[in-house]
Amino acid sequence: MPSVTPISRLLPRLLVCAALSIASQAAAAPAPRVAVAVPAKPAPAHYHLKRHPVVALTFDDVPAGGGLHTGETRVGIITRLINELNANHLKGVYGFVNGTGIDDDPDLQQSLRLWIAAGMNIGNHTFDHPALDDTTAQAYIHDIAINEPTLRKYDPGGDWHWFRYPYLEEGNTVEKREAVRGWLRQHGYRIAEVTLNFQDDDWDDPYGRCLAKHDEAGIAWLKQSYMENAAEFIREGREEQLIAFGHEVPNVLLLHETDFTTLMLPSLVKLLRGEGFRFQPLAKIARNPVYSLDPDFPNPGGGSITNQVLDKHNLRYPPFKPEPVDKLNDLCN
Ligand SMILES: [Zn+2]
Repeated sequence: MPSVTPISRLLPRLLVCAALSIASQAAAAPAPRVAVAVPAKPAPAHYHLKRHPVVALTFDDVPAGGGLHTGETRVGIITRLINELNANHLKGVYGFVNGTGIDDDPDLQQSLRLWIAAGMNIGNHTFDHPALDDTTAQAYIHDIAINEPTLRKYDPGGDWHWFRYPYLEEGNTVEKREAVRGWLRQHGYRIAEVTLNFQDDDWDDPYGRCLAKHDEAGIAWLKQSYMENAAEFIREGREEQLIAFGHEVPNVLLLHETDFTTLMLPSLVKLLRGEGFRFQPLAKIARNPVYSLDPDFPNPGGGSITNQVLDKHNLRYPPFKPEPVDKLNDLCN
Protein backbone atom coordinates (compact mmCIF):
# COMPACT_ATOMS: atom_id res chain seq x y z
CA MET A 1 0.00 0.00 0.00
CA PRO A 2 1.66 3.20 -1.07
CA SER A 3 0.00 5.36 1.44
CA VAL A 4 1.34 4.39 4.78
CA THR A 5 4.80 5.42 5.79
CA PRO A 6 6.21 2.87 8.18
CA ILE A 7 7.10 4.31 11.53
CA SER A 8 10.57 2.90 10.97
CA ARG A 9 11.04 5.51 8.31
CA LEU A 10 10.21 8.38 10.60
CA LEU A 11 12.43 11.33 10.96
CA PRO A 12 15.14 10.61 8.48
CA ARG A 13 17.05 13.49 10.00
CA LEU A 14 17.52 11.42 13.12
CA LEU A 15 19.09 8.68 11.11
CA VAL A 16 21.51 11.12 9.87
CA CYS A 17 24.54 9.32 9.02
CA ALA A 18 23.81 9.83 5.54
CA ALA A 19 25.58 11.92 3.22
CA LEU A 20 24.82 13.57 0.13
CA SER A 21 25.73 15.75 -2.63
CA ILE A 22 23.93 17.90 -4.89
CA ALA A 23 23.62 17.47 -8.54
CA SER A 24 21.43 18.29 -11.33
CA GLN A 25 17.78 17.98 -11.76
CA ALA A 26 16.47 17.41 -15.14
CA ALA A 27 13.94 19.74 -16.53
CA ALA A 28 12.88 19.53 -20.10
CA ALA A 29 16.43 20.68 -20.58
CA PRO A 30 18.78 19.29 -17.96
CA ALA A 31 19.92 21.90 -15.48
CA PRO A 32 23.64 22.43 -15.01
CA ARG A 33 25.30 21.06 -11.94
CA VAL A 34 25.54 23.62 -9.20
CA ALA A 35 28.14 23.64 -6.49
CA VAL A 36 26.86 23.34 -2.95
CA ALA A 37 27.04 26.59 -1.07
CA VAL A 38 28.56 25.90 2.31
CA PRO A 39 28.28 28.71 4.81
CA ALA A 40 31.61 30.03 5.92
CA LYS A 41 30.38 30.89 9.39
CA PRO A 42 29.03 28.62 12.09
CA ALA A 43 25.28 28.60 12.63
CA PRO A 44 24.00 31.64 14.48
CA ALA A 45 22.90 31.29 18.06
CA HIS A 46 19.66 33.07 17.21
CA TYR A 47 18.04 32.49 13.88
CA HIS A 48 16.51 35.41 12.08
CA LEU A 49 13.79 34.09 9.85
CA LYS A 50 12.22 35.91 6.93
CA ARG A 51 9.04 37.85 7.56
CA HIS A 52 7.53 36.63 4.30
CA PRO A 53 8.80 33.19 3.29
CA VAL A 54 7.16 31.45 0.35
CA VAL A 55 5.98 27.88 -0.03
CA ALA A 56 4.44 25.48 -2.52
CA LEU A 57 2.14 22.87 -1.02
CA THR A 58 2.52 19.41 -2.55
CA PHE A 59 0.61 16.20 -1.83
CA ASP A 60 2.02 12.68 -2.09
CA ASP A 61 0.26 9.34 -2.49
CA VAL A 62 -2.59 10.71 -4.61
CA PRO A 63 -5.28 9.43 -4.99
CA ALA A 64 -5.02 6.89 -2.16
CA GLY A 65 -3.11 8.55 0.68
CA GLY A 66 -3.56 6.89 4.05
CA GLY A 67 -6.24 4.50 5.18
CA LEU A 68 -9.86 4.66 4.14
CA HIS A 69 -11.70 5.15 7.40
CA THR A 70 -15.21 3.97 8.12
CA GLY A 71 -17.79 5.40 5.77
CA GLU A 72 -15.23 7.41 3.81
CA THR A 73 -14.53 7.32 0.10
CA ARG A 74 -11.53 8.51 -1.89
CA VAL A 75 -13.80 10.86 -3.78
CA GLY A 76 -15.01 12.29 -0.48
CA ILE A 77 -11.48 12.96 0.75
CA ILE A 78 -10.17 14.50 -2.45
CA THR A 79 -13.29 16.64 -2.87
CA ARG A 80 -12.75 18.17 0.56
CA LEU A 81 -9.08 18.70 -0.23
CA ILE A 82 -9.87 20.40 -3.55
CA ASN A 83 -12.49 22.60 -1.90
CA GLU A 84 -10.03 23.74 0.73
CA LEU A 85 -7.33 24.50 -1.85
CA ASN A 86 -9.86 26.43 -3.92
CA ALA A 87 -11.01 28.37 -0.87
CA ASN A 88 -7.42 29.56 -0.51
CA HIS A 89 -7.04 30.31 -4.22
CA LEU A 90 -4.39 27.61 -4.56
CA LYS A 91 -4.43 26.44 -8.16
CA GLY A 92 -2.16 24.03 -9.96
CA VAL A 93 -1.11 22.27 -6.78
CA TYR A 94 0.92 19.12 -7.46
CA GLY A 95 -0.32 15.71 -6.36
CA PHE A 96 2.23 12.93 -6.79
CA VAL A 97 0.46 9.84 -8.04
CA ASN A 98 0.94 6.12 -7.49
CA GLY A 99 -0.90 4.26 -10.22
CA THR A 100 -1.29 1.02 -8.34
CA GLY A 101 -4.88 -0.14 -7.98
CA ILE A 102 -6.42 2.67 -9.99
CA ASP A 103 -7.46 0.53 -12.95
CA ASP A 104 -9.57 -1.66 -10.67
CA ASP A 105 -11.18 1.00 -8.53
CA PRO A 106 -13.76 3.49 -9.87
CA ASP A 107 -13.48 5.51 -6.64
CA LEU A 108 -9.77 6.12 -7.33
CA GLN A 109 -10.42 6.82 -11.01
CA GLN A 110 -13.03 9.45 -10.23
CA SER A 111 -10.79 11.00 -7.58
CA LEU A 112 -8.04 11.55 -10.10
CA ARG A 113 -10.48 12.98 -12.65
CA LEU A 114 -11.79 15.44 -10.06
CA TRP A 115 -8.25 16.54 -9.15
CA ILE A 116 -7.36 17.28 -12.75
CA ALA A 117 -10.74 18.89 -13.50
CA ALA A 118 -10.17 21.23 -10.54
CA GLY A 119 -7.05 22.58 -12.22
CA MET A 120 -4.57 20.68 -10.08
CA ASN A 121 -1.44 18.97 -11.43
CA ILE A 122 -0.08 15.48 -11.12
CA GLY A 123 3.46 14.14 -10.99
CA ASN A 124 5.13 10.73 -10.83
CA HIS A 125 5.58 9.06 -7.43
CA THR A 126 6.31 5.59 -8.89
CA PHE A 127 3.60 3.00 -9.56
CA ASP A 128 3.88 0.94 -6.40
CA HIS A 129 5.75 3.18 -3.95
CA PRO A 130 8.97 1.17 -3.52
CA ALA A 131 11.75 2.33 -1.21
CA LEU A 132 14.88 2.87 -3.27
CA ASP A 133 17.05 1.72 -0.35
CA ASP A 134 15.38 -1.69 -0.55
CA THR A 135 15.42 -2.29 -4.27
CA THR A 136 17.67 -2.15 -7.30
CA ALA A 137 17.95 0.86 -9.54
CA GLN A 138 16.71 -1.24 -12.45
CA ALA A 139 13.54 -2.37 -10.66
CA TYR A 140 12.93 1.14 -9.36
CA ILE A 141 13.24 2.70 -12.79
CA HIS A 142 10.81 0.11 -14.12
CA ASP A 143 8.34 1.14 -11.41
CA ILE A 144 8.63 4.79 -12.44
CA ALA A 145 8.15 3.93 -16.10
CA ILE A 146 5.05 1.79 -15.61
CA ASN A 147 3.39 4.69 -13.79
CA GLU A 148 3.52 6.87 -16.90
CA PRO A 149 0.47 5.42 -18.72
CA THR A 150 -1.74 6.47 -15.79
CA LEU A 151 -0.32 10.00 -15.78
CA ARG A 152 -0.67 10.28 -19.54
CA LYS A 153 -4.21 8.90 -19.44
CA TYR A 154 -5.57 11.25 -16.79
CA ASP A 155 -3.60 14.37 -17.68
CA PRO A 156 -2.62 14.05 -21.34
CA GLY A 157 -1.80 17.74 -21.71
CA GLY A 158 -0.31 18.22 -18.27
CA ASP A 159 3.20 18.93 -17.04
CA TRP A 160 3.54 15.62 -15.19
CA HIS A 161 7.29 15.14 -15.69
CA TRP A 162 8.00 15.89 -12.05
CA PHE A 163 9.26 13.09 -9.84
CA ARG A 164 8.90 12.77 -6.08
CA TYR A 165 10.95 9.98 -4.51
CA PRO A 166 8.90 7.82 -2.10
CA TYR A 167 10.23 8.27 1.44
CA LEU A 168 12.54 10.91 -0.09
CA GLU A 169 15.04 8.10 -0.66
CA GLU A 170 17.26 9.19 -3.54
CA GLY A 171 19.74 6.33 -3.25
CA ASN A 172 21.71 4.65 -0.49
CA THR A 173 24.66 4.24 -2.86
CA VAL A 174 26.06 6.72 -5.34
CA GLU A 175 25.66 4.17 -8.13
CA LYS A 176 21.96 3.69 -7.49
CA ARG A 177 21.45 7.38 -7.08
CA GLU A 178 23.11 8.19 -10.38
CA ALA A 179 21.35 5.42 -12.26
CA VAL A 180 17.91 6.70 -11.28
CA ARG A 181 18.80 10.36 -11.78
CA GLY A 182 20.26 9.58 -15.16
CA TRP A 183 17.05 7.90 -16.27
CA LEU A 184 14.96 10.80 -14.96
CA ARG A 185 17.14 13.30 -16.85
CA GLN A 186 16.94 11.30 -20.05
CA HIS A 187 13.16 11.19 -19.78
CA GLY A 188 12.68 14.89 -19.14
CA TYR A 189 11.84 14.79 -15.45
CA ARG A 190 12.54 17.35 -12.80
CA ILE A 191 12.98 16.10 -9.25
CA ALA A 192 10.46 17.60 -6.87
CA GLU A 193 12.81 18.18 -3.96
CA VAL A 194 11.44 19.13 -0.56
CA THR A 195 12.55 21.60 2.10
CA LEU A 196 9.72 21.25 4.64
CA ASN A 197 8.30 17.96 5.88
CA PHE A 198 6.70 17.06 9.18
CA GLN A 199 5.56 13.45 8.64
CA ASP A 200 1.93 14.53 8.50
CA ASP A 201 0.85 11.06 7.34
CA ASP A 202 1.79 9.51 10.67
CA TRP A 203 -1.37 11.00 12.19
CA ASP A 204 -3.77 9.26 9.81
CA ASP A 205 -3.72 5.69 11.16
CA PRO A 206 -4.28 6.73 14.78
CA TYR A 207 -7.03 9.04 13.55
CA GLY A 208 -8.76 6.08 11.91
CA ARG A 209 -8.46 4.03 15.09
CA CYS A 210 -9.82 6.84 17.27
CA LEU A 211 -12.71 7.44 14.86
CA ALA A 212 -13.66 3.77 15.05
CA LYS A 213 -13.67 3.97 18.86
CA HIS A 214 -15.44 7.34 18.96
CA ASP A 215 -12.55 8.53 21.12
CA GLU A 216 -13.05 12.29 21.09
CA ALA A 217 -10.24 12.97 23.53
CA GLY A 218 -7.87 10.99 21.34
CA ILE A 219 -8.91 12.95 18.25
CA ALA A 220 -8.48 16.23 20.11
CA TRP A 221 -4.94 15.23 21.06
CA LEU A 222 -4.21 14.26 17.46
CA LYS A 223 -5.33 17.67 16.23
CA GLN A 224 -3.31 19.52 18.82
CA SER A 225 -0.15 17.45 18.40
CA TYR A 226 -0.36 17.62 14.60
CA MET A 227 -0.31 21.40 14.72
CA GLU A 228 2.45 21.52 17.32
CA ASN A 229 4.54 19.12 15.26
CA ALA A 230 3.89 21.09 12.05
CA ALA A 231 4.94 24.36 13.68
CA GLU A 232 8.06 22.77 15.15
CA PHE A 233 9.28 21.17 11.93
CA ILE A 234 8.45 24.15 9.74
CA ARG A 235 10.55 26.34 12.03
CA GLU A 236 13.32 23.77 12.21
CA GLY A 237 13.27 23.24 8.43
CA ARG A 238 13.73 26.96 7.88
CA GLU A 239 16.59 27.12 10.39
CA GLU A 240 18.25 24.17 8.65
CA GLN A 241 18.41 26.30 5.51
CA LEU A 242 20.37 29.00 7.27
CA ILE A 243 22.96 26.39 8.20
CA ALA A 244 22.98 24.50 4.89
CA PHE A 245 22.69 27.40 2.43
CA GLY A 246 23.44 30.50 4.49
CA HIS A 247 19.96 31.87 3.83
CA GLU A 248 16.34 30.76 3.62
CA VAL A 249 15.10 29.54 0.28
CA PRO A 250 11.62 29.32 -1.24
CA ASN A 251 10.01 26.24 0.24
CA VAL A 252 8.38 23.08 -0.99
CA LEU A 253 6.22 21.49 1.72
CA LEU A 254 5.57 17.76 1.54
CA LEU A 255 2.10 16.73 2.68
CA HIS A 256 0.09 13.58 2.02
CA GLU A 257 -3.38 13.28 0.61
CA THR A 258 -4.75 11.63 3.72
CA ASP A 259 -8.07 12.04 5.46
CA PHE A 260 -6.45 13.62 8.52
CA THR A 261 -4.23 16.07 6.65
CA THR A 262 -7.29 17.10 4.64
CA LEU A 263 -9.17 17.66 7.89
CA MET A 264 -6.30 19.73 9.27
CA LEU A 265 -5.51 21.73 6.14
CA PRO A 266 -7.51 24.85 7.13
CA SER A 267 -5.58 25.04 10.40
CA LEU A 268 -2.29 24.40 8.65
CA VAL A 269 -2.90 27.13 6.08
CA LYS A 270 -3.82 29.47 8.92
CA LEU A 271 -0.56 28.61 10.69
CA LEU A 272 1.47 29.27 7.55
CA ARG A 273 -0.26 32.56 6.86
CA GLY A 274 0.24 33.55 10.49
CA GLU A 275 3.98 33.04 10.06
CA GLY A 276 3.96 35.29 7.02
CA PHE A 277 4.06 32.58 4.35
CA ARG A 278 2.88 33.33 0.85
CA PHE A 279 1.96 30.56 -1.55
CA GLN A 280 3.56 30.05 -4.95
CA PRO A 281 3.42 27.30 -7.58
CA LEU A 282 5.98 24.52 -7.46
CA ALA A 283 7.44 25.37 -10.88
CA LYS A 284 8.16 28.93 -9.79
CA ILE A 285 9.76 27.93 -6.50
CA ALA A 286 11.88 25.27 -8.18
CA ARG A 287 13.65 27.96 -10.20
CA ASN A 288 15.73 28.65 -7.12
CA PRO A 289 19.21 27.10 -7.68
CA VAL A 290 18.90 25.03 -4.51
CA TYR A 291 16.38 22.86 -6.33
CA SER A 292 18.97 22.07 -8.99
CA LEU A 293 21.57 20.92 -6.51
CA ASP A 294 22.76 17.35 -6.62
CA PRO A 295 24.53 16.47 -3.38
CA ASP A 296 25.93 13.45 -5.25
CA PHE A 297 26.15 11.63 -1.98
CA PRO A 298 24.44 8.47 -0.71
CA ASN A 299 21.63 9.20 1.73
CA PRO A 300 20.25 6.02 3.27
CA GLY A 301 16.90 6.69 4.93
CA GLY A 302 16.15 9.61 2.66
CA GLY A 303 15.74 13.27 3.43
CA SER A 304 14.98 16.73 2.16
CA ILE A 305 17.42 18.59 -0.06
CA THR A 306 18.47 20.57 3.01
CA ASN A 307 19.03 17.38 5.01
CA GLN A 308 21.20 16.04 2.21
CA VAL A 309 23.41 19.13 2.20
CA LEU A 310 23.71 19.14 5.99
CA ASP A 311 24.66 15.48 6.02
CA LYS A 312 27.12 15.71 3.18
CA HIS A 313 29.03 18.47 4.93
CA ASN A 314 28.55 17.03 8.39
CA LEU A 315 26.80 20.18 9.59
CA ARG A 316 24.80 20.14 12.77
CA TYR A 317 21.02 20.35 12.85
CA PRO A 318 19.11 22.98 14.82
CA PRO A 319 17.50 21.63 17.97
CA PHE A 320 13.95 20.36 17.61
CA LYS A 321 11.29 18.52 19.57
CA PRO A 322 10.81 15.10 17.97
CA GLU A 323 7.53 13.70 16.73
CA PRO A 324 5.51 11.90 19.45
CA VAL A 325 6.05 8.54 17.76
CA ASP A 326 5.24 6.30 20.72
CA LYS A 327 1.96 7.97 21.52
CA LEU A 328 0.94 7.95 17.86
CA ASN A 329 1.60 4.23 17.77
CA ASP A 330 -0.25 3.52 21.02
CA LEU A 331 -3.22 5.85 20.77
CA CYS A 332 -6.64 4.18 20.41
CA ASN A 333 -5.07 0.74 20.15
ZN1 LIG B 1 4.65 8.59 -0.81
